[in-house]
Amino acid sequence: MISLKFSDGKAWCIMAVNKIKLPHLKRTKNSETIDIPVPEKVVISMSQHMGAPCRVLVNAGDWVKAGQKIGEGDSFLSCPVHSSVSGKVTEITDILRADGKYTKAVVIASDGLQIVSESVTPPKVTNREEFIEAVKESGLCGLGGAGFPTHVKLSFDKDKTPVDSLIINAAECEPYITSDYRELMENSEDVLDGIKKVQQYLGIKNVYICIEDNKAEAVKLFEKLTSSDSSVKIVKLKSLYPQGAEKVVIYSATRRIVGEGELPVNRGVIVLNVTTVGFISRYLKTGMPLVSRRITVDGDGVRTPCNVRVPIGISIRKLAEFADGNIEAARKIILGGPMMGTAVYDPDAPVCKTNNAVLVFIKEAQEQPMTNCIRCARCINACPINLMPAKIEKAYKAKDISALVKLKVNLCMNCGSCSYVCPAKRELAHTNQLAKELITK
Ligand code: SF4
Ligand code: SF4
Repeated sequence: MISLKFSDGKAWCIMAVNKIKLPHLKRTKNSETIDIPVPEKVVISMSQHMGAPCRVLVNAGDWVKAGQKIGEGDSFLSCPVHSSVSGKVTEITDILRADGKYTKAVVIASDGLQIVSESVTPPKVTNREEFIEAVKESGLCGLGGAGFPTHVKLSFDKDKTPVDSLIINAAECEPYITSDYRELMENSEDVLDGIKKVQQYLGIKNVYICIEDNKAEAVKLFEKLTSSDSSVKIVKLKSLYPQGAEKVVIYSATRRIVGEGELPVNRGVIVLNVTTVGFISRYLKTGMPLVSRRITVDGDGVRTPCNVRVPIGISIRKLAEFADGNIEAARKIILGGPMMGTAVYDPDAPVCKTNNAVLVFIKEAQEQPMTNCIRCARCINACPINLMPAKIEKAYKAKDISALVKLKVNLCMNCGSCSYVCPAKRELAHTNQLAKELITK
């Protein structure tokens, strides 16, 4: 049991960090990453990060090279976008994002040559400012899925909010996804080098590498690799969901509680995804920005589940077909995991920097009918932050904004645990997102 102070300063909520057991289903855990052939076309979105979309820096008809910057933003939470292929820009168009809004995208017909831009050279980094600037120029946003620009996370004010702990999130608690696990197993040197660079330039003393105990080989490997480094601790997390949620992993590693309205830096912590730190190391060595990533392709609709390195902007259809996926028969395609991922509306939509999995379902997506709430309270018991999803649903239906505010729906992390355990199949997590939008309108 832990206490959480709400931002109104009055209420102290005693809460248990509830977690649920999910089926493991990680049949790609031993699938070494393979490179997909360069596609004929990529569609590169200008909105792959939290924050305002980038403005397009190229025009239809331009020739571009791999690693060339093609989009840039001026807002605080923007990070640049680069071309993943060499070829000709055929179109600047609008594409539909998962949230229903349109955004600009650059369509590039690949010449198949993958000619690398002259701008791709290792950055000069000798101090904190240059390090943060290099991370910004790399176009890196959290590869765990949230899309928060990494340079913003690293730009904490070391006098006002000193940070003593770096948490490496390698929990990967969603079923199916193994892309972070493969980073641990295939790129352990990059991961450790990236960690050292963050420690060195930001002056962070302690590192906690958090791995679920169902990844025993990774735990063993990293315990061995870090045995002589007293600043690094391997934290073996129980394989429960949502172990990888930011506030949960911070609590599991350090017993520090990030309260409502606070950021991890307010508690002296930053959390980076494991593939994110691996990428930082590779970028500092090569200067190749974030133009490709590893994606797990799985689900009962693919015959060859695998981990694939893909250029950003490849279509979901191409990727699924590479894994012998039956897109035409799919009842549901999900970008990300089954708990927090987004259902895909258009299989020709492009893969973005933040996508770590494509799941194609045929049989498993057969939906059960929704029935009335039986007030069993399972949703409350499953919620990692003890919200009351059934009450939130009722308040949302009544459009009762003041009740929704009191019920703290703004704290919902959209983990999906409440929907998963509900015997009445209520769409609780989905309703919470609508309720969050309602109270911020
Ligand atoms: S989706 Fe929100 S309300 Fe539901 S269990 Fe997760 S945090 Fe709690
Ligand atoms: S789990 Fe479902 S049925 Fe049970 S109280 Fe919550 S909403 Fe109602």
